[in-house]
Amino acid sequence: MPRLLLLLPTTTYRTEDFVEAATGLGVDLVCASERPSTLEGAVPDHLLTIDFADPAAAADTAAKFAARRPLDAVVGVDDLTAITAAAIAERLGLRANVVAAVTAARDKFQMRQCLAAAGVRVPRFRRIALKDDPVLAARGVAFPCVLKPLALSASRGVIRADNIDQFMAAFKRISALLTREDVEVTGDAAQFLLAEQYIAGLEVALEGLLVDGKLNSLALFDKPDPLVGPFFDETLYVTPSRLPADVQDAVRATTAAACAALGLREGPIHAELRVNEDGPWILEVAARSIGGLCSRTLRFGTGMSLEELILRQALGLTLPSLEREGRAAGVAMLPVPRRGTLRAMAGVEEARAVANVEDIAITVHVGQALEPLPEGWQYLGFIFARADTPEIVEQALRDAQARLSFTID
Ligand code: ADP
Repeated sequence: MPRLLLLLPTTTYRTEDFVEAATGLGVDLVCASERPSTLEGAVPDHLLTIDFADPAAAADTAAKFAARRPLDAVVGVDDLTAITAAAIAERLGLRANVVAAVTAARDKFQMRQCLAAAGVRVPRFRRIALKDDPVLAARGVAFPCVLKPLALSASRGVIRADNIDQFMAAFKRISALLTREDVEVTGDAAQFLLAEQYIAGLEVALEGLLVDGKLNSLALFDKPDPLVGPFFDETLYVTPSRLPADVQDAVRATTAAACAALGLREGPIHAELRVNEDGPWILEVAARSIGGLCSRTLRFGTGMSLEELILRQALGLTLPSLEREGRAAGVAMLPVPRRGTLRAMAGVEEARAVANVEDIAITVHVGQALEPLPEGWQYLGFIFARADTPEIVEQALRDAQARLSFTID
């Protein structure tokens, strides 16, 4: 029975779906988290504690484990664990991306440099030290621009600025965010931010699987809500894309060029692009699969989950089909609208009853303290819909969302 090491940070939304896929495949599953579990002593062959912030130490821990219980694959489920998974795989000689490629994809400045050098279209960018005087730093920046941390995700700390006052406010806000206890950034990511050209246009997300250097496009999502800032909450994702076929081809080709430039060759990628009259612009390529619970929109072949595809590839098992099912599908992520304590929620059953809505997952609880972007990272929940066309899916998601209400003090 093949043995799989899954890296599951305590903050991830992805545990259930990956564990379900691993269980379905019948592998011997070892779960690693950054916090020791009280059960670890009882099941030492299946639970590990690994410091995801220290890939070299993590590789030592995994190597010690593997000496006793050999591992056939290691999979990190999100941004936090991608580099650690690559470091462990490199140490154990398992199929994965090289650490340098994943590291470049994880640092927004390195990614921009790498892509620009390879001739892939990216916004003009400039890295600014947090200790610099923001007034001087802003001199070389054209407005509108976007300021962002180098290594956070889920749009945390990503802020649009249209003038110098907004630039100063965003600079201070990101600096403060990076010193928070719940934000574990080290090295360059703790000392710099990125200021880049604001790219107007339609936004899409490409979910892909790299196999031996070839990018397979699994799904292209339109994001039909305008994302103009100043903060960039993710809301609707709908697939298949309604963009013209030639534009979709250009998006896929640009993403493949970006992966090649970064040196990514194996496993899932999630790319965000904007498209305007100049063509597709890469906003980012992450060496991981789609975040939140959004993968639940995707089914392949006769119903295989994205997580099963990812695990199969890591384990070197056959990939029966990389074709997404024929129906349109989508998800509405429900952003936290303001800071406060969740006091009540209503309308979940009414929203669930909307035609073509498949499921609703509420991922917060009454009494929970909520924090919106740009500092927070959580969602109130996710609505899933499936129908014959992307238009119907989009409408179902909007109708369901309109029936939900959350009371936040
Ligand atoms: P994260 O990795 O935290 O998701 P991104 O760099 O992908 O950060 O930015 C999050 C979102 O912010 C993007 O999906 C996009 O909507 C918006 N955004 C980021 N950079 C730009 C840019 N240069 N121009 C326009 N919008 C941007």
